[in-house]
Amino acid sequence: MRTCELTIESVQGRRLLAVTHASDLELGLFDQLTPGPGGALYGPLSAHNAAAARAVRPSLSPQPVGLATSAGTGDRLGLATPGHVDAFREFAPTLRPIFAQQSIREMDRLGRSPQQVLDDATFGCIEAGWTGPVGADADHLKTVYDIDRCLAAGFSLFTIDVGDFVEAVDGAPSDARLAELPWADLEDDLDSARRRYATLRVGLESGVQTIDEAALAHAMGKYGRAVAMGARLYRHLMDQAMHPVEVEIAVDETDEPTTPEEHLYIVTELARLGVRWVSFAPRHLGSFEKGVEFAGDRDALYDSIARHAAIAKALGPYKIGMHSGSDKFSIYDGLMEHTGGMVHLKTSGTSYLVALGVIARHRPDLFRSAYRASLDAYRTARASYQVSAEAGEVRAPDAVADAELPSLLENRATRQILHVGYGTVLRSADGRNASDLGTEITEALAAHRPDYRADLRAHFGRHLAPFSHQGAGS
Ligand SMILES: [Zn+2]
Repeated sequence: MRTCELTIESVQGRRLLAVTHASDLELGLFDQLTPGPGGALYGPLSAHNAAAARAVRPSLSPQPVGLATSAGTGDRLGLATPGHVDAFREFAPTLRPIFAQQSIREMDRLGRSPQQVLDDATFGCIEAGWTGPVGADADHLKTVYDIDRCLAAGFSLFTIDVGDFVEAVDGAPSDARLAELPWADLEDDLDSARRRYATLRVGLESGVQTIDEAALAHAMGKYGRAVAMGARLYRHLMDQAMHPVEVEIAVDETDEPTTPEEHLYIVTELARLGVRWVSFAPRHLGSFEKGVEFAGDRDALYDSIARHAAIAKALGPYKIGMHSGSDKFSIYDGLMEHTGGMVHLKTSGTSYLVALGVIARHRPDLFRSAYRASLDAYRTARASYQVSAEAGEVRAPDAVADAELPSLLENRATRQILHVGYGTVLRSADGRNASDLGTEITEALAAHRPDYRADLRAHFGRHLAPFSHQGAGS
């Protein structure tokens, strides 16, 4: 018996799922199939057919990647996965892909459900002929409701973000303030915690890591509530999960860098409460702005990453998560070296900039409209991101000749403004529907699909190559 084949075909300008050599049992899983050219049956790219595709080809179902070096891509338009696949193909199986990767915040801003995000990646894998394993990252989850939606959609990596529960603490808070921590949820009390940490010694290659009483008080005051919430979200996830899942713990979107002592406290407490994870994303030193190169002291960054990685090796092992990791070409080798390959990179958002590059080349006026809308929106949207561009320092959309438009994407400030403006560009004012501009961009990209795919392959190839070398620790 021949095995069922799945491809994506364009029929009269419409992308459809083509099913060939399917058994009757398999055919029964699909919806609205009609006979078409070449003896195949054609069906719409619907949620129903995505689920059917994953059922007949189980490798399309996201699964945990464990401790393998991994990278997540993410895709705001639902069109980028074939280009991501092309880039990963060269580095498989050393580097594990997490094609679907979207924060709940972005999904809600773009009006895409977790299921749509996952299904677009499924169809993208079919289109590009990817047969290897895939992961899917439900990023920055903060509520049980978020977890339930992403579990139902079939995500495999759950990034539990406890950043909202991190408190601003100066020095060591008083005992009176520490007494207010949710001790029942922490299954602990202040005296027991102090006694435990007084004797805690974690052996690292560089020496013994301890936490003194003042550092403990600081860590408890700052992260105590976050630990309690992390344990609560984790337990909910594990109670509800009907398929294999894995967890990343993230505090990357907090104001101050996470110190090694704070890292040690957070993970010691989470482990005590039964939480298990494959990666931990601290707030790293220096500036990790979206879509642009790292800014800051690279040696200090590597020093701190090495210490985080040493703790992760001693207490896990688990990977160090690197969020906002797109376009940070200058630090990838260092990241690999100082984590020994125990790293998970997230590169969300940069695929959208690659898309705008295609638009800039082929549809100058459409690009100008997107740029103008992004500039207008920049001041309101920037609050939720780490960005530093000033709207005054970039060129006005109408002052740039057509041929120069693509070069705007090489400018740091313009990149940031375009990056942050995606919500305004792609969505209607009430956020409910695609905007006219968003529809036009999607259609233009569809018309230049091979270009977009080739550009993504090149851009992601640069991201992924440094992570494909075997790390010292693997
Ligand atoms: Zn993040």
